[in-house]
Amino acid sequence: MTSPAPSTMPSFEQLGLPDSLLSMLSEVGYEIPSPIQAACIPYLLAGRDLLGEAQTGTGKTAAFALPTLAKLDLSNMRPQVLVLTPTRELALQVSEAFTKYAHHLQNFHVLPIYGGQSMVVQLRQLSRGAQVIVGTPGRIMDHLERKSLKLDALTMLVLDEADEMLRMGFIDDVEWILEHTPSTRQTALFSATMPATIREVARRHLREPEEVRIRTATSTVEKIRQRYWLVRGVDKLDALTRILDAEEKLDAALVFVRTKIGTEELADKLAARGYAAAALNGDMTQSLRERVIEQLKNGSLDIVIATDVAARGIDVPRISHVINYDIPYDTEAYVHRIGRTGRAGREGVAILFVAPRERRMLKSIEHATRQQIEPIALPSREDVSSLRVSQFKQKVLDTLADPDMELGFFMSVVEELVEENDLSSRELAAALAYLVQAGRPLQIEEEGRGWDQATALHTQGKPLREDIFTTGAPRSRTGRRDANAIPAKVFDNGKVQRYWIAVGRDHGVMPKDIVGAIINESGIEGRSIGQIDLFDDFSTVELPAQLPDDLLNVLRGVVVRSQRLNIRPVRDDENLPVRRPQNRDDPRRDKKPSKPWEKKSGEKRFARSGDFRPPRRDDARQSERRSFADKGKVSGWKKRRGHE
Ligand code: ADP
Ligand code: MG
Repeated sequence: MTSPAPSTMPSFEQLGLPDSLLSMLSEVGYEIPSPIQAACIPYLLAGRDLLGEAQTGTGKTAAFALPTLAKLDLSNMRPQVLVLTPTRELALQVSEAFTKYAHHLQNFHVLPIYGGQSMVVQLRQLSRGAQVIVGTPGRIMDHLERKSLKLDALTMLVLDEADEMLRMGFIDDVEWILEHTPSTRQTALFSATMPATIREVARRHLREPEEVRIRTATSTVEKIRQRYWLVRGVDKLDALTRILDAEEKLDAALVFVRTKIGTEELADKLAARGYAAAALNGDMTQSLRERVIEQLKNGSLDIVIATDVAARGIDVPRISHVINYDIPYDTEAYVHRIGRTGRAGREGVAILFVAPRERRMLKSIEHATRQQIEPIALPSREDVSSLRVSQFKQKVLDTLADPDMELGFFMSVVEELVEENDLSSRELAAALAYLVQAGRPLQIEEEGRGWDQATALHTQGKPLREDIFTTGAPRSRTGRRDANAIPAKVFDNGKVQRYWIAVGRDHGVMPKDIVGAIINESGIEGRSIGQIDLFDDFSTVELPAQLPDDLLNVLRGVVVRSQRLNIRPVRDDENLPVRRPQNRDDPRRDKKPSKPWEKKSGEKRFARSGDFRPPRRDDARQSERRSFADKGKVSGWKKRRGHE
């Protein structure tokens, strides 16, 4: 279905929700259902299976949580609803949403279950019981196998962000779970996109599902003002701080970089310049990550620098700005990123740093979001200085005006200083002002090459240097940090190669650990990672052939399960056998195609990255394909790119 206009949207009441939920909805301020909610709630209340396709930020959580809550048997503490999410953050977010929506329901219990959390705690919580379990696939499987989680009373199973679960390599786990739950259950699958593999999962495990598809590619980003800055003449860090200083209505900013190391580096640099900034990445412990998000929510942090994976699904309404410090590798990632702002009906701003040679990606993004992205000029040094000065003056005046400030003691210190040293109060105040601004100078120094000179050259269209400071990106052969060090041609030829890595079963590694580390540290896309074979003390992984040395160097140092990967190509004479993970009693494990991208169409086999296709670095070609798909000429594409 397509989205009805808001004026024709039914009310929550008309959707058939009970009073206990209606009163909660008016308390939390949801006036009307979002399109996906209006479409899904009646089906789910009626017990139908459902396949729901809608972008992030469209209100999918309430679309399944509300009808679920309406149907729960609250006198029974056995799990009746299981929600699977790709990440711990999402599991927590979804269970928080359940708690919020169940505000008026007595004896309601929801339990988030995810890897990384103490087993002992989880076992205790599970034995106490909960009607709704929200978890990540791996840990849910663990508990099902240990029989610490019993799902025989399960009436409803929800797969949230199914495409992300696929991207992260969890789809086999998800299917295993589907096979180990009562076949009488109701099933709802939600996804921002509908790749063929997800459709196949739906075909196998859903019963005559109702299909709901909300075309919101444009409306999700409607509330987001998209702009870009062409990286030229000024280094990116400098540009970032100017933007952070000069942007109007900046409340909190989420800054995206490509690597985990990059998040730390940039957070440190910003913190050193006086910003309340912190990193968010997959290396941090769960509790640390939660703390960062909490601090961002409560305002003790203003800037969080994150990787795509770590920031997935974050819902912090005060994020007013998303800054794409490193350009994303594909348009989908971009849409996910900017969806972190413009939440809960607010307006958001997305700013993209684009190096000249990345302009084609910019075009693809414009095409995908069906919006023009406006170029911005960076504020000049003077602009930023005068802004800082006026903010500083205001802060001083605010302090004087604040009745809670006890300035008496400081008055006496100042008087002593003046008398003992024969100073004028002007001199003294100036010295104090100097001390206060330290770390974040009111007057911005010229840094290396002068700002104005850079600006001047920029306006004349002469490139100075590009891509300086692309945080954490691999170094190119010239030793310069280079965002595009993975040359397009390597990925374009679609060839793959088997690589050896120094971590294996004995280290307790799972394929998804390897996938996660490679995605996070190298920026290689999940879909470019082919088959993984686990051996006792090493593994092999299929990646694009002839990865550049710079990238191999980065990967060599990556640590998984305390092992440096020490990656190298497998030599022809090594004759390594194939050892697919067999630990789950899933018959498909034996049947995997050794090269998922050679999978014939219609073949129903599941590779780890089931919808593999060679990454599309050639964006021009990509947009060409898209425009065909848009006209409905290439139906396969149309299906795949269904979110557009
Ligand atoms: P999705 O899962 O589709 O990404 P979420 O369920 O996380 O979206 O919802 C996005 C935001 O919209 C949340 O802040 C949520 O509280 C808010 N929201 C959801 N439904 C409504 C509604 N009917 N009216 C107003 N805000 C809503
Ligand atoms: Mg969601």
